[in-house]
Amino acid sequence: MFTDKPGNYIQKPMRECTGKEICMEWLYHIGVPEKDIPKLAEESANTVPVMMPYITAFFMPREKGDRPDVVPQGAVNFAFLGQFAETKRDTIFTTEYSMRTGMEAVYTLLNVDRGVPEVWGSTYDIRDLLNATVMLRDGRPLTDMKLGMKEKAAVHELLKRIHGTDIEKLLAEYHVIG
Ligand SMILES: Cc1cc2nc3c(=O)[nH]c(=O)nc-3n(C[C@H](O)[C@H](O)[C@H](O)COP(=O)(O)OP(=O)(O)OC[C@H]3O[C@@H](n4cnc5c(N)ncnc54)[C@H](O)[C@@H]3O)c2cc1C
Repeated sequence: MFTDKPGNYIQKPMRECTGKEICMEWLYHIGVPEKDIPKLAEESANTVPVMMPYITAFFMPREKGDRPDVVPQGAVNFAFLGQFAETKRDTIFTTEYSMRTGMEAVYTLLNVDRGVPEVWGSTYDIRDLLNATVMLRDGRPLTDMKLGMKEKAAVHELLKRIHGTDIEKLLAEYHVIG
């Protein structure tokens, strides 16, 4: 996001860093002990820096008003489409964003009584959140987690309490429990 700012560990902007330096900065951020960082970046990783200006441009910090609304107030015969137009309903990056801005433009300017397809509300959907949690553990269920005695007893008690309920079914369906 901020390729022009020095890193927290490597005191150089990212765009001036070698692959090894980018790797070192990353290792620092994920909490690797500092004494191990240089060796790991040198011997256990192969980091090839690639500048991707088209995609970086999508994610540059911005403020409301930097991008024009799809149909600016008062516009009757023009609109803005694509990733650099502002619409309330979506987050940029996907081809869907461009499609939705196109639909919004046409439906608004031509007064077409059709809704733009909704964005899937994954942030608030418990099924997506459970799925994402399990995927973060490479698909391994919670019941496979290495736990201490106390935690194991707590999970055991919890499983007993939810036995036969919809919650148990949901957790099983999304492989949270094995
Ligand atoms: C590296 C990368 C990875 C991506 N991965 C994904 C992904 O996995 N999934 C996903 O959904 N999206 C992804 N995207 C985003 C997706 O590619 C874009 O959001 C989408 O292509 C935008 O479509 P668009 O039609 O709005 O614009 P564009 O595809 O950018 O089309 C605009 C067109 O206008 C042309 N043009 C510009 N100026 C003029 C001019 N003056 N006269 C005539 N023509 C002009 C350009 O040449 C271009 O062909 C990725 C983008 C990048 C850069």
